[in-house]
Amino acid sequence: MSKHYYIETFGCQMNKNDSELMEENLQRYGYVPAQAEKDADIVIFNTCSVRNHAENRALARIRQVKKRTGKIIAVAGCMAQRLGERLIAQGLADMVIGPYQSPIVGELIEIYISSGKRAFLSQNLRDFHHRLQNLLVQRNNASWHRWVTITHGCENFCAYCVVPYVRGRLISFSSRTIVEYVRTLAAQGAKEITLLGQNVNQFGHDSGDIPFHSLLENVAKVPGIQKINFLTSHPKDFRRETLEVIRDNPNISRAIHLPLQSGSNDILRAMNRQYTIEHYYRLIEEMEHILGDYAISTDLIVGFPGESRADFEKTIEAVRRICFDDAFTYAYSPREGTAAYAMAETISKEEKSARLNELIAVQREISRMKLQKRINRNENALVEAMSKKSQKEVMGKTFLNHPVVLPGGRDDIGQFVRVKILKVVGNTLYAERIA
Ligand code: SF4
Repeated sequence: MSKHYYIETFGCQMNKNDSELMEENLQRYGYVPAQAEKDADIVIFNTCSVRNHAENRALARIRQVKKRTGKIIAVAGCMAQRLGERLIAQGLADMVIGPYQSPIVGELIEIYISSGKRAFLSQNLRDFHHRLQNLLVQRNNASWHRWVTITHGCENFCAYCVVPYVRGRLISFSSRTIVEYVRTLAAQGAKEITLLGQNVNQFGHDSGDIPFHSLLENVAKVPGIQKINFLTSHPKDFRRETLEVIRDNPNISRAIHLPLQSGSNDILRAMNRQYTIEHYYRLIEEMEHILGDYAISTDLIVGFPGESRADFEKTIEAVRRICFDDAFTYAYSPREGTAAYAMAETISKEEKSARLNELIAVQREISRMKLQKRINRNENALVEAMSKKSQKEVMGKTFLNHPVVLPGGRDDIGQFVRVKILKVVGNTLYAERIA
């Protein structure tokens, strides 16, 4: 009888990619996907530790499922690495699997069943090998979009961030393997790929491989790949050459995600971000000069320890000056084990929340203004799904990654369509098809 699995994924794109790797491995071990967790023999929670909130959400879901089922519960990802055997001791997990080992989850379940071993949390390089080998394993799930992890882990140690502790040191995959992998994906029908890393601009720093912009250029030359995104960039390592490669290769998206975090140099220093606001402004000027038409999104934290009203206003000033297309905004929350955890919190919960709301209001107005500027433009859109509101409409993203709705049907999914932008409703562009 078939064994069924169900995976619930929390957090970032890296986790989504890890869940894909887990699925492939489970299927090799004879597991088949279940439609819902109630039909599964094993339920895997692939978790995130970046914010307290993310951990609490995952814990609430695990408790809910654990209470009403007698299934194997595996907790994987960053929270498994951070809380480790505590999750087993508290009866929340039957087994815990860290990010190094998640690609061999099928094998680990067999070990758990046969030997009772429950914790797989090693950050030994030897255990990372599965990941490197896994990259070139033949994929079955042909899809027009694929994630491509190019680095794992991070060594930047931003003061607020738990990632270097739970995902380990920077490890770059080999550029030759990545390009070969992208060729395989293209042959299977992939049209869009997203290169993933905590700081993609540091690609090769650990291994002496080619720099990120050369990797990007090599990937852009793979026939059949029509759109390339990359996440996440770090202002301290982002190089002008990357912009030149984007300019010279029309299949690289001009939507750049570049986390700013704060507009105040004092706070950037306290966060250990290793750049200044002036440096960030220079990068934006280069983007304008080299790319012309581009979209820029960012991450911002308010209420970091020591952030004065004047510091916060510098963030607002930067947001107004740069005019981000989109911003992911957060109120600072301390994470155990990070450098900032030892810093005294100086801003009340109410004040953090007030600053966050003020920032969101400013950004919302700017995002809408940026979308309005797209009206009457002709753009390429990649159709991703049927519209939730109409069977005669589809939704997707423009080449600048703005959400767009247009007339269409199921056959358009995964296709590029030429559109003219007509209007903005909420955060979404509405378009008509053009020849
Ligand atoms: S660059 Fe900074 S914020 Fe990003 S993962 Fe690394 S330590 Fe965390």
